[in-house]
Amino acid sequence: MPMIAVRHKNIRKYLREELTFEQGPIRPPSEAKSLLLRFTRNCPWNRCTFCPIYKGRKFSRRTVREIKRDIENIAEIINDLKKISFAAGDGGEITRRVLRLVWSEPASHPYYRTVSLWLYYGEGNVFIQDANSLVMSTSDLVDILTCLKDKIPQVGRITSYARSSTVSRKSLDEMKELKDAGLSRIHIGMESGSDNVLKFMKKGATAAKHIDAGIKVREAGMTLSEYVMPGLGGRRWWKEHAVESARVLNEINPDFIRLRSLRVPPSTPLYQDLLSGRFEPLSDDEVVEEIRLFIESLDSITSTLTSDHIINLLEEVEGTFPDDKAKMLSVIDRYLELPEKEKLLYRLGRRGGTIRCLDDLNDLQLREKLQDALKQLTVDTHGNIEQIIDELGNQYI
Ligand code: SF4
Repeated sequence: MPMIAVRHKNIRKYLREELTFEQGPIRPPSEAKSLLLRFTRNCPWNRCTFCPIYKGRKFSRRTVREIKRDIENIAEIINDLKKISFAAGDGGEITRRVLRLVWSEPASHPYYRTVSLWLYYGEGNVFIQDANSLVMSTSDLVDILTCLKDKIPQVGRITSYARSSTVSRKSLDEMKELKDAGLSRIHIGMESGSDNVLKFMKKGATAAKHIDAGIKVREAGMTLSEYVMPGLGGRRWWKEHAVESARVLNEINPDFIRLRSLRVPPSTPLYQDLLSGRFEPLSDDEVVEEIRLFIESLDSITSTLTSDHIINLLEEVEGTFPDDKAKMLSVIDRYLELPEKEKLLYRLGRRGGTIRCLDDLNDLQLREKLQDALKQLTVDTHGNIEQIIDELGNQYI
């Protein structure tokens, strides 16, 4: 029988129900094609008042044995997928045909599907979950990372989230050990460089700790992404938030600066501060002004800034310093100089998910649709269109 004739029912013999591994809920957009591996569950800090992600969930550690079992199971799944590929005549490669066989087979459990996609994309990236895997002891992490590289040779870049205060507690030698064991990229939720903002938001970090941790990650030879949260200073600290965040980043010079604008859904403690008036949020346009001041204050760095999340109003604000600084500021100015009615149309389209860049406003069909929607919503909400735009914005959290 030509191998190509393998049918759904024939691949069932290669699938094993018992091969599972644990995955958590969150990964950065830049890790969309990465294999997600859970080392710890939830967030060991979990006090940041703006963060809804792990509220109500308890932090727990997984044992080294459990995590290694997951890794061994993934290695076994890879072997099974190779067998399917050989049976299909594709020589062990995870081709489109193998992918189709695995994904169209009702008995394929999600783990086979996940691993087949990961192999198909062939980038080999792994993202370690959840919120702060560096809270594990360095020796345990090195042990697991070594096992991961050993059992799954396809693994390339390995990335983890980490808190600045946790990195700060590790020595540079420990960070270098982790780098040598394969941990190549760290994402830090810096959020702000203002001590007032960090304290108010219960971030559990200071500007000095952010700088110490960031420099350590860079000195260890890892790639560093720092997340900044426009809007987090509110009306009270917006200038300080912009200028101090830039100051901290100027000291660190991370590889990436990633913007994640603040949203305040009811599930966050910050929402109560908002209701009580302790926190006054900025409007969309004020956040854009704040980002302008932030970018203007970034200096002597070679970082790449991205707005790679739909939660940001201006996705086009991106580029590498110093060359693209003027270009990023010009996108912001172009938005700020729009007539009020155009800004409203842009914001409605952006929050509704139909607009990606300012040039989309030139799409006549889209404009017409947005204008119709705006008219209707203005009637439906008795003129309270801001509430609808706000609700639309919260859908991406
Ligand atoms: S450390 Fe990160 S995951 Fe944990 S509560 Fe703060 S923002 Fe959320």
